[in-house]
Amino acid sequence: MKAWIDGEFVPLEQATVPILSHGFSRGSAVFEVVDVVAGPDGPALFRIDRHVDRLLGSAEAMGMSLGRSAPELIDAARGTVRAAGVSAGVLKIFAFYAAPELGLIPADPTVRVAMFCFDLRERYGVTVGGTFEPVTAGVSRRRRLSPGAFAIQAKVAGHYVNAFLAVREARQRGFDEAIMLDEAGMVAEAALSNLFVVIEGVARTPTLANSLSGVTRDSLLQAGRAAGLPVEEAPVPAADLARAEEAFLTGTVIRIRPLCALDGRELTPCPGPLTRRLQQALNDAYDGRNPAFRHWLTDV
Ligand code: PMP
Repeated sequence: MKAWIDGEFVPLEQATVPILSHGFSRGSAVFEVVDVVAGPDGPALFRIDRHVDRLLGSAEAMGMSLGRSAPELIDAARGTVRAAGVSAGVLKIFAFYAAPELGLIPADPTVRVAMFCFDLRERYGVTVGGTFEPVTAGVSRRRRLSPGAFAIQAKVAGHYVNAFLAVREARQRGFDEAIMLDEAGMVAEAALSNLFVVIEGVARTPTLANSLSGVTRDSLLQAGRAAGLPVEEAPVPAADLARAEEAFLTGTVIRIRPLCALDGRELTPCPGPLTRRLQQALNDAYDGRNPAFRHWLTDV
């Protein structure tokens, strides 16, 4: 497998990061994970423009200049998928301060951009774009990093220590996934995905005040509305988890992952009826079957 680094392809083993780099030692690397879907005309990147915009926003939050425009990054992403010969999988993009740095503020502003693409099925036996098995989730004792403490809309490597601790703690308590509350006790999101709960027949997801602007979250809201299904963004008090009729997570790769139990309370049937209909609407958009969303796919 080859990685694309600053315009050149190198074997993945050579795509390394200096141990004293700011990206590694301070965790300031920014990244994106993009779906490569089997589109009607071959492999396609799903909503790459939105991912690249979010990457540029994350970089800006870290004071990084990538020195590449969005169209240049999209071109590089397409080239990386083509070179990998992957028909469906995942593209990872990283940008990081690479120079050795002992201080807190990088003295050398040079940023490296790296991408690589792999077939999830081959590597991890994961279903790509399929229906993921339901999982259980519990409310984590770890709170989501607060907007006052970090840039919550930025995907920064170091922020994921929060997610790591939350999932590890949830697993120790017997749950598969961790649901995270914010400092005010409102539901925020899951560790690596956005959360939707169905309350009185409406699928509700917390607002962007305390959750990442997930590409899948946005796609689900748009595809759901277009299909006439009840979806909304609104604050979700923690107490609503106890009366949720259905619940699911959204994210790149998993798309929709139904939750069959919330904090030990079973949700049946699982997936629930609204979850299934949203899953169908979302899959139609991903696979290019819904012409209204065909523009979400960028052929490689
Ligand atoms: N929330 C968090 C904290 C995440 O890391 C992710 C994964 N990027 C998501 C939500 C889901 O976002 P997306 O649908 O863009 O993958």
